Amino acid sequence: MTFEERGERLVREIDSLRPVVEDVAKSLYENPELGLQEVFAVSKLTGILESKGFHVETEIAGMPTAFKAQAWNQGPRIAFLAEYDALPEIGHGCGHNLMAAVALAAGIGLKNAFPPEEARATWLVLGTPAEETIGGKVVMAEAGVFSDIDAAFIAHPGQLNSLGGSSWASHPIEIAFRGRTAHAGGNPQEGINALDACVSAYTAIRMMKNHLRDDVRLAGIITHGGDAPNIVPDRAVARFTVRSKSSHYLEEVVLPKVRQIAEGAAAAIGATVEFRHYEPLFKETLEHPVLRELARKNFEYLGQELPEMPRGGGGVTDVGSVTWETPCIQIGFSMTDARGHSREMAADTIKPRAIDATLMAAKVLALSAMEFIYKPELLKQAKDYLEQARRDQN
Ligand SMILES: [Zn+2]
Repeated sequence: MTFEERGERLVREIDSLRPVVEDVAKSLYENPELGLQEVFAVSKLTGILESKGFHVETEIAGMPTAFKAQAWNQGPRIAFLAEYDALPEIGHGCGHNLMAAVALAAGIGLKNAFPPEEARATWLVLGTPAEETIGGKVVMAEAGVFSDIDAAFIAHPGQLNSLGGSSWASHPIEIAFRGRTAHAGGNPQEGINALDACVSAYTAIRMMKNHLRDDVRLAGIITHGGDAPNIVPDRAVARFTVRSKSSHYLEEVVLPKVRQIAEGAAAAIGATVEFRHYEPLFKETLEHPVLRELARKNFEYLGQELPEMPRGGGGVTDVGSVTWETPCIQIGFSMTDARGHSREMAADTIKPRAIDATLMAAKVLALSAMEFIYKPELLKQAKDYLEQARRDQN
């Protein structure tokens, strides 16, 4: 079978899933749920996958609304990642209902198009909750969910078709200083002023920016600075967003310096300090050239425009962490003229244009995945690239 013959078969199969895509888009739109509370979405999606012959496991990586659906058990393991969490007040204003529909259409389409004796592959749909809040994929990556996955695909809706783009690493930190209370007027000499330590640390951390690479963001606020002006504050707390293009640089250089400064400021006045990451490390997106080339080819095969994208700034996504675990791409697909995170975008997700675009995105991902099965050397190239990138981190 040629690429064209395989492609036609797959495109036909995915087109026949239009009612499934409409059903998913609409029912999730009407029942928006916040991160880690996506009970309706998970039962809807896993119900469809089971009815199409997938074996479903829920409560993956300790999260009740994460799931794994699998068809066959042979050859390379190819995963399509579904998101389904909504935003407070504006529902599916980020279009994650369509991300779920893309993953289902791609996975089910491939399973139906190629009998297991013809295409040796395992098709997976992974349900990845809470993208907008805790970053469910980070939790899943840390739990090893992607360690046996050979490639992963995901598609995000928006204004433009794209091959995805860069995102930064982020690892925010809370710094809490402890001192000793005393009467600020009567016997201040008996106190240890935690706020003083916090202010010195804040100032020094901000000044340290001049001695770090340009691609570092260190923005902070003081979230607690004492309880009353006539009491020497025994507790002061600051929170810093800590971002860089490189998680390696963040962990090996930036965060150790932040800690060192805070410890110095505390020691200078006899206070103590504790650190806590109130969000996990979100790694930067590693762009995988083999997957980008496949996706580009398949956008073109489907007659789609692929405009040049402006290079992004310090955005962060939990897909970044997946790109360091397995060859992975997040494409963008055009389904709206509205801005992201808006009520208008939510309303657009159930219109015919969005359903067409969702089917198109599923085709781009499924056609790309199909190439990996029929051209194993491509999959090997993609994996070699990841291994090299891991060795070259700086
Ligand atoms: Zn989103």
